[in-house]
Amino acid sequence: MRIVVLAGGIGGARFLRGLMSAVPDADITVIGNTGDDIHLFGLKVCPDLDTVMYTLGGGIHEEQGWGRAEETFAVKEELAAYGVGPEWFGLGDRDFATHIVRTQMMSAGYPLSAVTEALCARWQPGVRLLPMTDDRVETHVLIDTADISGSAAGDGEGRKAVHFQEYWVRMRASVPAHAVVPVGADQAKPGPGVLEAIADSDVVLFPPSNPVVSVGTILAVPGVREAIAEAGVPVVGLSPIVGDAPVRGMADKVLAAVGVESTAAAVAKHYGSGLLDGWLVDEVDADAVDEVEAAGIRCRALPLMMTDTEATARMATAALALAEEVRA
Ligand code: GDP
Ligand code: CA
Repeated sequence: MRIVVLAGGIGGARFLRGLMSAVPDADITVIGNTGDDIHLFGLKVCPDLDTVMYTLGGGIHEEQGWGRAEETFAVKEELAAYGVGPEWFGLGDRDFATHIVRTQMMSAGYPLSAVTEALCARWQPGVRLLPMTDDRVETHVLIDTADISGSAAGDGEGRKAVHFQEYWVRMRASVPAHAVVPVGADQAKPGPGVLEAIADSDVVLFPPSNPVVSVGTILAVPGVREAIAEAGVPVVGLSPIVGDAPVRGMADKVLAAVGVESTAAAVAKHYGSGLLDGWLVDEVDADAVDEVEAAGIRCRALPLMMTDTEATARMATAALALAEEVRA
């Protein structure tokens, strides 16, 4: 079975681990979000690709869900001693090596897709990990300047776009987001193999990744959404919203920016029946099933907490079963 998964970071990576356990023989292609990518200290950092790579390759910091296990921070401390920031983005020593290799290869002219393949040669994630695009896409978040602490009073009213990581990591999404813009996406081309993998797939899955800044960004690359719709295969998603709140993180803030309520049903309707055939919600949201089905999307309720690989594998199995149900 050929499965395509559109993945962000933690939610995507943990789901993939369960999926691989549920169907060890499946041929899985992961289309990874690169809208979170950022240049720091002259290095190209791809947080979501790395989270997938480290999680599936056994190098992830398990409790944290991102970054390397057994990490040290000597480089970060030395940079801070020079007064060189940003200090709010936690790059550890082991992680730095990944970004150095990536940047070096890109400086030599390799596209991100080739670099990702080279990095994966070490980590052996067991899936084909494809960046959504080789072009530069950067998610920006529009906020009120008045909400930025430290901005001088009388600065005037206005709005300002900040890099997604600045909004998410530095500001912890503590101020309202008015818009989320995947800058560059409209000009981006799907990465090598992306459209082919979708066209050749038997099923497309949306893991419980962030619907706006992870899956939404991948769908913003022209051609991807169309390829999924045209593939004519079941498309099944799993809700990252459980009990009207994100299981982890601040997805409610970016959902609000695109006018979507933080409920499992609202997220399904945001994707829409033109894209989604099936949707899994947590058992605490069983009430949402009728509303989702009324919107033309087949829906089932079951436990959706990725507490361990076994629990996550049951979610993956249910997603594939729902895919077969809508295919029939
Ligand atoms: P990021 O790029 O690291 O933020 O990761 P993703 O976009 O792939 O996933 C983030 C989303 O995963 C968040 O909106 C969480 O609500 C969701 N999530 C995390 N853990 C779980 C879980 O155990 N169950 C469900 N249903 N969603 C989860
Ligand atoms: Ca991310």
